[in-house]
Amino acid sequence: MAEKDRKTKRYRVATQGVRAGQVRTQFREHSEPIFLTSSFVFESAEQAAAGFSGDSGDYVYSRFTNPTVATFQERLAALEGAEACVATASGMSAILSTALALLRSGDHIVCSTAVFGATVQLFGTILPRFGVETTFVSPTRNEDWKKALRKTTKLLFLETPSNPLTEISDIAGLARIAKAAGALLVVDNAFCTPALQKPLELGADLVIHSATKYLDGQGRVLGGAVLGPRKIVTDQVFPFLRTAGPSLSPFNAWVILKGLETLELRVRAQSASALEMAAWLEKQPGVARVFYPGLPSHPQHALAMKQQQAGGAVLSFELKGGKKAAWRLIDSTELVSITGNLGDVKTTITHPASTTHGRISAEARAAAVVTDGLVRLSVGLEAVEDLKEDLARGLA
Ligand SMILES: *Cc1c(COP(=O)(O)O)cnc(C)c1O
Repeated sequence: MAEKDRKTKRYRVATQGVRAGQVRTQFREHSEPIFLTSSFVFESAEQAAAGFSGDSGDYVYSRFTNPTVATFQERLAALEGAEACVATASGMSAILSTALALLRSGDHIVCSTAVFGATVQLFGTILPRFGVETTFVSPTRNEDWKKALRKTTKLLFLETPSNPLTEISDIAGLARIAKAAGALLVVDNAFCTPALQKPLELGADLVIHSATKYLDGQGRVLGGAVLGPRKIVTDQVFPFLRTAGPSLSPFNAWVILKGLETLELRVRAQSASALEMAAWLEKQPGVARVFYPGLPSHPQHALAMKQQQAGGAVLSFELKGGKKAAWRLIDSTELVSITGNLGDVKTTITHPASTTHGRISAEARAAAVVTDGLVRLSVGLEAVEDLKEDLARGLA
């Protein structure tokens, strides 16, 4: 990579978000260009042969590599403090690519019960067809992870804070457990992003992103990434990706790349608003309980503040009146969006029990404490007073 880029490695997150990874073309453009091209041309047959063998490092075909995608990868790697990054078409294809690149029939995964619904489906129902089994354990009880380990355990997988209850997993503690077992700790960092949490610094082996969430931050495109050491990401995940094909489109890479420029600013501001909303909700008479890691009332507040820079922008709360009260609150809003997506600058409101967590069994939902009165809020960038007024109506 260019000399300018290497120099950005010493800069802080906000600076890297704006600067890292850019390689200017001969036209000396200021903003990063989009290379919407599926293939690249060569000067000669010999150069083409060298390109295809991978020896020259030349761009060949955008399923393998593309300059816009490469800029996104470099920038995110700088932000996470990772040696290497491969971009994927979505968050789920990042998780699928990691599993298929690193596992074989007979291998075992230990996974938090509180991960994204599609991750539960992938590990719980699709991978078993290929001989890979998963044991689901509590995100917060390290001893349960230890007990679930087998000789064949290759991956430990978690998200922290969890969705929608914002439970915090102890990344450093679980990294030690993984290491002792000869397994890799994989952390899905979609909720905190490197603006608030750097799992690799805490001992995790790999970081997964759904770039669809905060990295884009404006709800426009799908994307994902896998980050970690070169010997895993470049040597194992990338060869799978370039063959199997869930690659990130250059257009989406460009959109997310521009999203990274405002990542720190957005996440910090949204986090500050979420803290204010959480403290306000805690005082509302119709609210039984608020789940937000930035509140001192959160059972793992101390751990959250140790491994995160702030509480994040997602919170949930339990209404005293159950499902009726939850739906009434949601239906009385005029400003916030009723949608399952999160991580947007637009605030979104969800009733997890009947939407994002609607497909899992009532028992599993009860185990995850996703009750009928629970409402999830992904706090955006609107004025906090407007958000309070929007919710106050339905809480009255
Ligand atoms: C949304 C999400 C995913 C899946 O990402 P897609 O881009 O929708 O495929 C994975 N993990 C977490 C934590 C998510 O929020």
